[in-house]
Amino acid sequence: MWTTSSTVESRMRIAIIGAGIGGLAAALSLHAIGETDIRVYDRVSELRALGVGINLLPHAMRELTELGLADRVEQKGVAPSTLAYFNRFGQPIWSEPRGREAGYRWPQVSVHRGELQLVLADAVRRRLGDDALQLGHRLVRVEEGADAAAAVFARAEGEASVAADLVVAADGIHSAVRASRYPGEGAPIWNGLTLWRGTARVPAYLDGRTMIMAGDGEQKFVAYPLGAPDADGLARVNFIAERRGVGAETVDWNLAVDAGPIVELFRDWSFAWLDVPALIAAADELLEYPMVDRDPIPQWTFGRTTLLGDAAHPMYPNGSNGASQAIIDARTLAFHVATAESPADALAAYEADRRPVTSELVLSNRQQGPERVMLLAHERAPEGFADIHDVISADELAEISAGYKRAAGFHPDLLNERPSLTAPSPIPPSPTPPR
Ligand SMILES: Cc1cc2nc3c(=O)[nH]c(=O)nc-3n(C[C@H](O)[C@H](O)[C@H](O)COP(=O)(O)OP(=O)(O)OC[C@H]3O[C@@H](n4cnc5c(N)ncnc54)[C@H](O)[C@@H]3O)c2cc1C
Repeated sequence: MWTTSSTVESRMRIAIIGAGIGGLAAALSLHAIGETDIRVYDRVSELRALGVGINLLPHAMRELTELGLADRVEQKGVAPSTLAYFNRFGQPIWSEPRGREAGYRWPQVSVHRGELQLVLADAVRRRLGDDALQLGHRLVRVEEGADAAAAVFARAEGEASVAADLVVAADGIHSAVRASRYPGEGAPIWNGLTLWRGTARVPAYLDGRTMIMAGDGEQKFVAYPLGAPDADGLARVNFIAERRGVGAETVDWNLAVDAGPIVELFRDWSFAWLDVPALIAAADELLEYPMVDRDPIPQWTFGRTTLLGDAAHPMYPNGSNGASQAIIDARTLAFHVATAESPADALAAYEADRRPVTSELVLSNRQQGPERVMLLAHERAPEGFADIHDVISADELAEISAGYKRAAGFHPDLLNERPSLTAPSPIPPSPTPPR
């Protein structure tokens, strides 16, 4: 029976697999409760600012605020004022204020994923020490022993094994740990849609701080600024173009493709307020990714090892929840490690808190989450409308938006009132970890 208490006297050796958003947030959260023997291992030999934009919703910004990181993250991004949905003709369906403008005590922040990762990695190095981040370590398996787990890595010079009291598998959608526990699971599940992601410096649109989504279930375009407009009125805008029935199933976050054919797919989407084909054509680079997720699984924790972030619950990006949910996982895990009777109890409580809600989100995102308003508008008025309320009532629109926020745990009332995940009496963190 695994009963080591996580008190000051018996701090745990913690191995976190994956230095993505979830793994780094887990390291910072566990350090904030007084754990000091933490190593984050990643397969890459160098952390580079990969990816394009992501959104940190207020529930994630609350956690980053309580970790003392919100200012640095906000400096890197933009707090969107509004989220607005349109049909494929650019006609408005629904819009709502976001972040503080919507009554949250915390903002929503649109930020470059890679820049966020580097901010978190820098905080890990400063707070936990340079050794805390161990690159060039590809996890191949975890062996559960009677007294400890062993994380086994493939290294340039051969296999290396690290003993740990707790292994947090934050190794993403292709998680090696998850694959070892669910060997029959296979590749992520594709729904036939393809996403093309990019950023471009273009004239700012609408108020310069609005996230837009246009289209329907077959073809869609999402855009949001990642920076304020400059003196020439140009802003760096992140976008995701989406289409069914084109593209391949290769699940690679870094797959670059030619923009020409994608500009053609959106040739008619030149709206009075945003020139979509021009935006796609101006992209520095276009990255192709299939719309994939995985089915919810019945168990995350196996002995001393648990899953976190995309390793636990990869979901469609509808609703902008992937990175946010990974950060909440991290903070919830640390809260239970700080407050449970034993590490085993902590992992059980973490899983009980997080698995049901994230499983529901995975399934809800398959139903398009809050973007269902665009599907309804298309179903009921495929050729467009004079007034959206002829097609969908104001109450129905409002309920779709509020229902998703409740399910994802970021309705303003719920979030503003929920107790903090900061453990009641955090042990002061020590800056230099012993090992
Ligand atoms: C390169 C990259 C680019 C991305 N770009 C976008 C984007 O543009 N838009 C978007 O919405 N989402 C993107 N994502 C996904 C997004 O970051 C996640 O959905 C979300 O942030 C949850 O993060 P995570 O930490 O759980 O997983 P991830 O961010 O995927 O991080 C997983 C980490 O684990 C490491 N890893 C994987 N396998 C092993 C192994 N066997 N051993 C050791 N380390 C391992 C990976 O190198 C990675 O650093 C990207 C992910 C990656 C890895």
